[in-house]
Amino acid sequence: MSDQCIFCGIINGAIPSAKVYEDEATYAFMDINPASEGHLLVIPKRHSKDLLEIPTEDLAAVTATAQKIARQVVGELGADGVNLLNCCGADAWQTVFHFHLHVIPRYRDKGKDK
Ligand code: 5GP
Ligand code: ZN
Repeated sequence: MSDQCIFCGIINGAIPSAKVYEDEATYAFMDINPASEGHLLVIPKRHSKDLLEIPTEDLAAVTATAQKIARQVVGELGADGVNLLNCCGADAWQTVFHFHLHVIPRYRDKGKDK
């Protein structure tokens, strides 16, 4: 937990979010500035700043949650594919320094993409 971290604030409820899934180790919520319809973020509840720092077990938990959500997004919600994305470091466009995986649904009908 980091006092300055937006995503820690989301996990502890101090900052509102549109939650889609939660378990012991992970939390998933809608991205505030979606790249496509249904764009969401999966984060570990335990704070790590990036891919280089996150413990392997937290990475595994986040990845498992992203897979669960990707299956639903494609199977039930009508997406035709999904991009999983992680930005590690400011030079790789990371802007929030609490590890997160983007789950970005993609549609054959590109009308739903931004
Ligand atoms: P990054 O650029 O670090 O890979 O991605 C950070 C993501 O967090 C961006 O897609 C941005 O829209 C999202 N984001 C930043 N602040 C908030 C927030 O307060 N709430 C939500 N739901 N998403 C946020
Ligand atoms: Zn944090």
